[in-house]
Amino acid sequence: MRLSGWMCAAVACAFVTASSPPANADSSADPLVGAPGLGDPYYPLDGNGGYDVRHYRVGIDYDPPSRLLTGSTTVFATATQALRTFNLDFAGPEVRMASVNGLPAAFDRNGEHELTVTPLLPLLPGLPFVVTVDYAGPAVDTEGEGWTFAPSGGAFVAGEPHSATSWYPLNDTPLDKATFELHATVPAEWEVVSTGVRTANVVRDDKRTVGWVTAKPVLGYLTTVAIDKFDYLEQRRANGTPLISAFAPNTEGRHREIEQRLPEILDFTEHLYGPYPFETAGGIYLDADIEFSLETQTRPIYAPKSDLQTVVHEIAHQWWGDWVSVRHWSDICLNECFASYTADYLWPERIEGENVDENYRETIRKYRDNEKFWRVPLENPGAGYEFTSVYYRGPIFLHALRKQIGDAVFFSAVRDFLAAHAYGNASMPEFRAFVQSRSPMDLTGFFDAWLNRTEPPPEEYLFPEALRD
Ligand SMILES: [Zn+2]
Repeated sequence: MRLSGWMCAAVACAFVTASSPPANADSSADPLVGAPGLGDPYYPLDGNGGYDVRHYRVGIDYDPPSRLLTGSTTVFATATQALRTFNLDFAGPEVRMASVNGLPAAFDRNGEHELTVTPLLPLLPGLPFVVTVDYAGPAVDTEGEGWTFAPSGGAFVAGEPHSATSWYPLNDTPLDKATFELHATVPAEWEVVSTGVRTANVVRDDKRTVGWVTAKPVLGYLTTVAIDKFDYLEQRRANGTPLISAFAPNTEGRHREIEQRLPEILDFTEHLYGPYPFETAGGIYLDADIEFSLETQTRPIYAPKSDLQTVVHEIAHQWWGDWVSVRHWSDICLNECFASYTADYLWPERIEGENVDENYRETIRKYRDNEKFWRVPLENPGAGYEFTSVYYRGPIFLHALRKQIGDAVFFSAVRDFLAAHAYGNASMPEFRAFVQSRSPMDLTGFFDAWLNRTEPPPEEYLFPEALRD
């Protein structure tokens, strides 16, 4: 995610999300009941226990004038324990029907986003099962945590960490990645863009049906659907990877010019972090009142204020956030520190010839005595503070680390760290331990000063030898 403009340069960004209440103790005590949450330190009720999702097949019919959303989502999962009842996360329209393995199932909605499903027959550990949920009702404006509406009458879904529950039921946690397909039907004059490869785009009578398949595992907040009267830009990488980018009406010509550099941006990032991990790429340029851009997998969404730096940031996230995802939300620096460092330091240094060491020294001079700048720690910033210091202190932390351990160790360590967690999850403690394993230097004090403290690091860590004037 990247907030538009530089309003977070020195103050906390106002992207505050309340944490959920503690899990329901009664249900987690019954061994045949799937836990309603997975105990994330910030969002304990996100995700659910007792099963592992392999694939989502989401079918929606959306009518822009009435905002009516009709959905039928099928979840292909495997039970990891015996289950008499289990939960999905869903905050979308009214549920009409639920079935498990083709048999009608009882369901109940409770809490902020829990959909409790009770199959006719209990589920056995290790066996696959299929859940279908049908729902219908108006899509609701969720202010950056789901549906957002465009002045054209179009609509899209975006938000981190929460947004997917507004349009389909899922196991909404970074810990359960699954493949994803969308089949969407809209009035014929509208277009539908999502993540992955487009598999169908058929107009019959007055309806258009569009299919998108995300063949590599993806997380809920990294899926999206965007409905508008898009224009397209189709490109290819030198290796043949197809790129589809979409532009809502009124997006500016400069956005198309930036997106034409996507092959170059992918080449640049691949050179830093290893082969591009997905089968397609692109971007979705929105015309709507939205203050952030988001790294939706393969095809980020871009706010009207986005620029080249935003695109580099969201493309870097395809490695940091999408290919390798946080284990818990307290690990958010892995995503944002690297995306910001790539866009704010590495691209300017290597493509535009900027002296980023000088930029670093200037930033330290400017903010060293600014208490607010150091107030939120980079590692474990606290619920509601995930999207604050990571943007402005993340890049200087990583630049200092690179200068502390040297380019050769830094770049090989980050590449190997990513590869070791491919299509999975990683944490900040794992990152620290991995980098430490590659360096003969004891980095304990360095990491502690940069990641855990709420004051400027001491001189020796602020200015490793290679950064001294
Ligand atoms: Zn970001």
